[in-house]
Amino acid sequence: MTVPVLELRGVSKLYAGDVAALSDVSLSIGAGELLAIVGPSGSGKSTLLNIMGTLDDASAGTVHIGGLDVGELPDRRLSALRGRLLGFVFQQFHLTDGLSAVDNVATGLLYAGFARRDRRPMALEALDRVGLAHRTNHLPSQLSGGERQRVAIARAVVNAPALLLADEPTGALDTANGEAVLELLLGLNRDGTTIAIITHDRDIAMRLPRQVEIRDGTIRHDTATGGSLG
Ligand code: ADP
Repeated sequence: MTVPVLELRGVSKLYAGDVAALSDVSLSIGAGELLAIVGPSGSGKSTLLNIMGTLDDASAGTVHIGGLDVGELPDRRLSALRGRLLGFVFQQFHLTDGLSAVDNVATGLLYAGFARRDRRPMALEALDRVGLAHRTNHLPSQLSGGERQRVAIARAVVNAPALLLADEPTGALDTANGEAVLELLLGLNRDGTTIAIITHDRDIAMRLPRQVEIRDGTIRHDTATGGSLG
C-alpha cells in the first residue's frame, strides 16, 4: 500500500481557556486526491489547515506527512519538509508588493534551497502553467485579484509540492475570477497535484471528488470513508 501524503490520527487542538477547536480528527489524503474540507465559520477549518500545514502543533494525536511524524521533527527539519512537500494558497494572496510576479514565485524557491540560476526559469514555467506568461514582470498592484491569486498558485506549485493546501482560495474574488481560479485548481489536479481546498461554500465543495465536512471541531462526514454530505 502506498503511504498517504498526509495522515492525521486522533488530532485534537485545545486553545487557551480550554476551547476545543478540534476533537479526535482522523483524516488520510492519498496522492492525486482533490478534496474539500467544508464547514461553517468557527467549525475548525483554519485550525485544521494550520495543523495539516505544520504551522501549528496538535494538542493530541499524530500528523504524518509523506510517512514522517512531524511531531518528532526538530524545527529545522520541519521547515525543510514544509518547503519541500507543501504548497499554500490563502484567501488574501499574500504576495510581496514590491516584487514582480516572477520574483514573487521565485522567492519561494529560495527558501526551498534551489540554485539562483534555476529559480527564474522554474518561476516562468509555473506562471505559464497558470496562464500568466504575459504578466511575468507586472507588480501585484498592476494585476487583477484573479491574476494575483494565479501568481500565488504558481508560487505554491512551482516546487511540485506533494500537497497543495488552499484556504478559501476564491473567497476574495468575484464570481468570474473565482470560477477561473477553481478551474485552474481542477486542472492542476488533473495533471497530478494533490489538493485540499478549505471552504465554507458547499457549492464549491460539491464540485470536488471528495468532501470532508467539519462541524464543531469534528469530522461529520467524509465521502471517502462512507456517507454522503449531510
Ligand atoms: P474556521 O476556520 O472554521 O472559522 P477556526 O479554526 O478559526 O474555525 O476556529 C475554531 C474554533 O476555535 C472557534 O470556536 C474559534 O473561536 C476558536 N479559536 C480559533 N483560534 C483560536 C485562538 N487562537 N485562541 C482561542 N480560540 C481560538
